[in-house]
Amino acid sequence: MHSRSAPSQKSEVAALRCEYRDARTEKAFLRHHLAMTQAQLRVTFLFCSLFYLSFAVTDVIWVGYGGRTLLLVGARLMVAATALGSLMLLRRYPRSIYITRMVASLVETAGAAGFLLIAALRPNEFSLHSISMSIVITVIYIYIPNRLLYAGAIALPATAGFVALAALLGNLRTAELATMAALLTMANLFGYVAARRYQMLLRDEYSAQTVLKNLSVRDPLTGCYNRRHLHNQLLETEISRAQRYRLSLTVIMCDLDHFKAVNDTYGHHGGDAVLQRFATLLQSMTRDSVDSVVRYGGEEFLLILPETDLAGGELLAERLRQALAAAPVEHDGRRIAVTASFGVASVDFASAPHTAHLNMIAAADDLLYAAKNGGRNRVCVRQLA
Ligand code: GH3
Ligand code: MG
Ligand code: MG
Repeated sequence: MHSRSAPSQKSEVAALRCEYRDARTEKAFLRHHLAMTQAQLRVTFLFCSLFYLSFAVTDVIWVGYGGRTLLLVGARLMVAATALGSLMLLRRYPRSIYITRMVASLVETAGAAGFLLIAALRPNEFSLHSISMSIVITVIYIYIPNRLLYAGAIALPATAGFVALAALLGNLRTAELATMAALLTMANLFGYVAARRYQMLLRDEYSAQTVLKNLSVRDPLTGCYNRRHLHNQLLETEISRAQRYRLSLTVIMCDLDHFKAVNDTYGHHGGDAVLQRFATLLQSMTRDSVDSVVRYGGEEFLLILPETDLAGGELLAERLRQALAAAPVEHDGRRIAVTASFGVASVDFASAPHTAHLNMIAAADDLLYAAKNGGRNRVCVRQLA
């Protein structure tokens, strides 16, 4: 179920860090992409381990056999162990956004630290190391999906550390050192820009998908769920949840009284204004993200109330009835007085058979018509067994 605030606000992306400003949207976005993110991490971690380990050959070639080579290989093993340990963590917590982020940062940090150690232990090749360093930077920004902020917070200090080591141990001319620093700064800049484009693209795509999804599940006039969504997903989800946990489920069918007369007297615009006002009332008096309001027909609405018993449903229907009757709808300087009738049907899955829900909506509809026949502007209720 969705929150009811405006979609444009929720889809705003902060320009620098490239995340949705709305924390709930960002979390939903991350969850949506979690499986893909983890798949990318797995591939990159495997490649990282492989490369760090296979480059041990170059340690032997450049340094020969000895204590220093042992240290070098130790650094490589440390990086590979971190990456492989992270793979195990991902396998163990496949649904955790937090763990996924944590292992991304962990491997980035270990990879950068390990590489600095390797460079320091092989101080004669800093010009070559700077090529590897720019690859490390690229991997941090682009190939390991992480928060852009974290990637920068790891890559920038690592770059500074690398240049400092080159200055201390590299035996380089000043011009060489300055060029190296400038090139690596550029690698950071381009890495950031590329990662930012990727992050933006993913979020644009997600926002567009969300807009389309909203269009397909909601009614444009009132913003309530439409009947297609009710039958495709909503009803089944709520019924199976109530069955599984043996909870109560209540539905309310409501219909505006003498609505044809409203249209005849105030025109269709007046009628639409009343519909919108009624829908807003239904949305505002039900629980956000728990209850669902469906536009079932022209001026007929269905409320689905999980974990609500008959008494709770009756209380809500009575409150809605009174609120609507007490506040005429303002339209074009005129006040349109309207009332509605309500049918409330409830199933308690703790005692009722599993099939008790089958005629639930039909029962609420019957009760609604009983309310109409009883004189309108009233509530009729029944517990289904
Ligand atoms: P009752 O008390 O028995 O419900 O009387 P009623 O006049 O409300 O009866 P009925 O359900 O037959 O009338 C529904 C009317 O709602 C008919 C239709 O013109 C109007 N209607 C349906 N959808 C819309 C809409 O989207 N906008 C407007 N303005 N009117 C609509
Ligand atoms: Mg009606
Ligand atoms: Mg009707």
